[in-house]
Amino acid sequence: MNPTEWFTEQVSAAGTAFSLKIKKKLHEEQSEFQFLEMYETETFGNLMVIDGCTMVSTRDNFFYHEMMSHPALYTHPNPKTVWIIGGGDCGTLREVLKHPSVEHAVQIDIDERVTRLAEVYFPELCESNGDPRADLKFIDGIKWVKDAAPNSVDIIIVDSTDPVGPAEGLFSAAFYRDCAACLTENGMVIQQSESALLHLKLIGEMRDAMSSAGFGHLQTLFFPQCLYPSGWWSATIASKADPSKFREQDSANKPFETVYYNVDIHKASLAQPEFFKKAMALK
Ligand code: SAM
Repeated sequence: MNPTEWFTEQVSAAGTAFSLKIKKKLHEEQSEFQFLEMYETETFGNLMVIDGCTMVSTRDNFFYHEMMSHPALYTHPNPKTVWIIGGGDCGTLREVLKHPSVEHAVQIDIDERVTRLAEVYFPELCESNGDPRADLKFIDGIKWVKDAAPNSVDIIIVDSTDPVGPAEGLFSAAFYRDCAACLTENGMVIQQSESALLHLKLIGEMRDAMSSAGFGHLQTLFFPQCLYPSGWWSATIASKADPSKFREQDSANKPFETVYYNVDIHKASLAQPEFFKKAMALK
C-alpha cells in the first residue's frame, strides 16, 4: 500500500500512531495560529487535522461533541448561558443549542479559519450557527475569560486543542481561577482531558489545578473516541457546587435526538476505573 494514501498521526511520546485511508487532500493552509488540513477519507468522511493532530471526522465526532456538552448541561440545575472556548468546528455549539434552557451560547475560538473551513467541509456541524442564541467570537479564550465580569456564565466548555501552542494556557491554574471568578453560583467548567491511558499525569495535574482554583467537586467522564490517541478519551467537570446528582429525569426525557448520549451512557461515563481511582487518590 502506498503510504501517501494514508494520513497518520504519530504520538512519539506514547509510541502510538493512528491512520486513516485517504481519498484526497481537500485543503491545507497555514493560518495565523496553526497548520490546518482537510482530507476526504475512505471510511470516516471528511477529516480535520490541526498541526498534525486529528481533530474531527464526519463519522465519529458525535462521541466527543455529545459528551462535551450534554453531561454538563444535565448536571447544571438550569443552564442559560454557555461559553465554548475553542470548539471552532462548531459541533459542540450545535449540541449545546439543543437544550431549550440555553438563552445564549458563545463560541470563542482564537482561529476564525477553523470555523470558515468547518462551514465548507463539515456543514452539518455548523447548522446551528444561525440560531439567534448563537454568538461566534474569534479571540483568545484565555483573554476572554480573564476580561469577563463576575457571575456572567453558567457553564464554560473548554473544547480546545492539546495543551501546546495557543491552548497551553487553557490547562493552567490561572485560567481556572479566571473561570471560577466569572461563573455563577452553580457554575462549572467542562474540559476535554485527553486519554486516561496515555495522559494520566496530565489529568492529575489538571484536576489539581482545578481544585487549587476553587473548584471543590471534580468528575472525570470516560467515552470512546477512536480518532484520538488510544481511542479512549475523557472530559473533566469542575464544579463550584456539589454536582453529585445530575438531572437524570430531564436527561431521560431529553427533547432532542443524539447518536451516543443518553441517560444510561451518562451514568456509565461516570464510573471510575480502578487504576484511575488509585492514581487520583479517589475513594
Ligand atoms: N476536539 C478537538 C480535539 O480535542 O482534538 C478540538 C477541536 S477544536 C477544532 C479545537 C480549537 O481550539 C481549534 O479550533 C483552536 O483554534 C482552538 N484553540 C486553541 N487554543 C485556543 C485559545 N487559547 N483560545 C480559543 N481557542 C483556542
